[in-house]
Order: sequence, then structure tokens, then C-alpha cells
Amino acid sequence: MIETKGYAVREAGSDFAPFNFERRDIGPNDILIEIVYAGICHSDIHQAKDEWHDTMPTTYPLVPGHEIVGRVSQIGSDVTKFKVGDIAGIGCFVDSCRECVNCSRGLQQFCVQGAVFTYNGVERDGVTRTYGGYSNKYVIDESYALKVKPMDDLKGVAPLLCAGITTYSPLKRFNVGPGKKVGIVGLGGLGHMGVKIAKAMGADVTIFSTSESKAADAKSLGADHFVVTKDPANLTPLTGTFDMILDTVSADHDVNPYIALLGVGGAMVVVGVPEKANTVHSLSLIFGNKVLAGSLIGGIPETQEMLDFCAEHNIVSDVEVISPDYIPEAYDRTVKSDVRYRFVIDMA
Ligand code: NAP
Ligand code: ZN
Repeated sequence: MIETKGYAVREAGSDFAPFNFERRDIGPNDILIEIVYAGICHSDIHQAKDEWHDTMPTTYPLVPGHEIVGRVSQIGSDVTKFKVGDIAGIGCFVDSCRECVNCSRGLQQFCVQGAVFTYNGVERDGVTRTYGGYSNKYVIDESYALKVKPMDDLKGVAPLLCAGITTYSPLKRFNVGPGKKVGIVGLGGLGHMGVKIAKAMGADVTIFSTSESKAADAKSLGADHFVVTKDPANLTPLTGTFDMILDTVSADHDVNPYIALLGVGGAMVVVGVPEKANTVHSLSLIFGNKVLAGSLIGGIPETQEMLDFCAEHNIVSDVEVISPDYIPEAYDRTVKSDVRYRFVIDMA
């Protein structure tokens, strides 16, 4: 077994503390990754606090982290995709059945038998718990690791493994491109990636934010328009004008005012996971042939496509690098929307 050092929450409400555990030995198809950076996604916070208790309960101790980049330090005898010294990424899942209808289509996140999530999951042996990237090593089957082009700014790549793919996938699915008007609700980790990617796809991008102080950043991130949502009157002139709106908000809020901004056939796509459910009246969708959709990360082929797209367009995340002892403060600041725009833990 491979001795691994990480940081875990022992129970809901407790703080992070060092936690040593073992990863499996490297099998013929496995690679060992020495983790360099791990991003802090708001999903880590939801799960550390067991805020999704009814749908995805947290099992403690919890080592979060599913935005991982690192260097390959060992490879199994049958590995062909990586060699020692390569840069590899790990996203939100690390295995799946590989045979079901969804795995066959490259949608491993929807594996019929259940994808093995990078943390707070159980391996396919049915017993081994998974621990995430707030740690120094990860052993993963090469098919579930992503290839990262060698580059100087590795810290900005880590968040692509979740925030990047979570925004890329729905933007692509709803044909965002030149001539399309796209709204991004919430300028946080996901939101700022959404802006960069939608701009690279050629769309006209509007940010809807509760934080007036982010207006200048919005421009430098490439957004064409910035709307402060605290005053509902700011939304009224935009009624019926959007092709797609991507809602990345992590906290309870009403989606109805945004659905009103969609034009005929427009799509409201939710990726943020607030604690409470939203209520949408059928008529809000019926008048205008509107679409209300969800989106969950992306499969392995699309995640690789997203990484290649970002490399081609020089897209990385704007990050604040922290040491592991700062995780609790980083969590508090993320919840207060006080992050520009992703905390990334230096695990090396
Ligand atoms: P984040 O960095 O905390 O960003 C969330 C943003 O939401 C904040 O920056 C803030 O933007 C806005 N916001 C916060 N509180 C708000 C409130 N009370 N009302 C309105 N807006 C508010 O979080 P993240 O890492 O981007 O994740 C966002 C959500 O997506 C989380 O729920 C996470 O679990 C979920 N997620 C889903 C997937 C998926 O596959 N579907 C993948 C990853 C994450 P402003 O300051 O601009 O208002
Ligand atoms: Zn995430």
C-alpha cells in the first residue's frame, strides 16, 4: 500500500486536520500521481458540511478535492497513455463500470452502476472509500486520468478539472458561439471559467452578480456586460433577450427572474447546487418554448477536449494559492463570495 498524507474533516462542523491513509498499490493499468495543486470547489464545502445530506450524504473522515494536477511518478506495466514525469489531472470521478450505455458513450459520470467519485465515494470493490486531492498522492487507472500539456501556470489548470468542464460542457451542448447572447449567474469559481470559455467560443457574455465590487474584474475576464442583481430593476430591460443562461450560484435563490430573460427557445441551465429546491411554474417555460436543464461535470472524452480547448485558447483559472493550514479560512471566504476566483492548495 502507498502511504498518503492528507487533510480531513472528521465530522460535520469540525475543522481540517492532518490525516494519514493508504492508497492501493499500483496495478498494471494504474499511475501514481504526486499531487502539486488541488483546487477548492464549492462542492467540497457543501460536502465537508454535509449540506447535501438527503441526496449525497457525507461519510467522515472526508478528504475533499476533485480539481487535481500533479506529476506522474510511477506507472503500471500496461500503461500506455502516460510516462513518468508527465503532468496528469484528476477530476470528479476516478472509475466506473466501463460497459453500461452511458460509459460506452463517454458519459462515465452517469455510469448506471454509479461512477466512483474522487472522494466521498466507494471503489468498485464495494468497500474501499475514496479520498480526494487535499493530499499528496493519488493512484488512478490511466483511463480516468487526463493529459495536461506541460506549462508554467499549472496552478491555474487545476480548477479546469471541475469548474472548467462544468461550464464548458453545457456551453457546448447549447451551441454557444458567435451571435449568441449568454448570461452567467454568479461570478465565482465556476462563473469566471464560464465567462472565459463562453468568450473563447465567440459569444456575447453578460455576468449577473450580487457583488458590485466584481465589476472591474468582469471586464478583465472578458465579459461584455455586468449586471448587479441586488436591484431587480436592472434585469427588466433585458427581458426576452438571452439564448442561454448558466446558473452557477451555490446559495438559495430564485431562478424565475432569469428564466424571464430568455428569448424564445432559450435555455436556462443550472449547475449550482443550493440547499433548497426551486419552484418554477410551467407557464414560465411554456410561453417562449423555453428549456430548463441541468448539467453534471462531463465525461472523460469531453474533459480532455475541454483541457485541449483551454490550452489552445490560453485559458486558465485566476487563482489564489494557499497552504493547507489556510483551508478553513479559504472555505469561509468562498462562502462569503470573497475569492478571486479560485483557491488552490499547494500540495507539493
Ligand atoms: P463559488 O466559487 O462559491 O461561486 C458561487 C457564486 O455564487 C459566488 O461567487 C456568488 O457570485 C454567487 N452567490 C453566492 N451566494 C449567493 C446568493 N446568496 N445569492 C446569489 N448569488 C450568490 O462556487 P463554485 O465552486 O463556483 O460552485 C458553484 C455551485 O456549483 C456550487 O453549488 C457547487 O456545488 C456547484 N457545482 C456543480 C457542479 C456540476 O457538475 N453541476 C460542478 C461543480 C460545482 P457573485 O458574488 O457574483 O454574486
Ligand atoms: Zn467541483
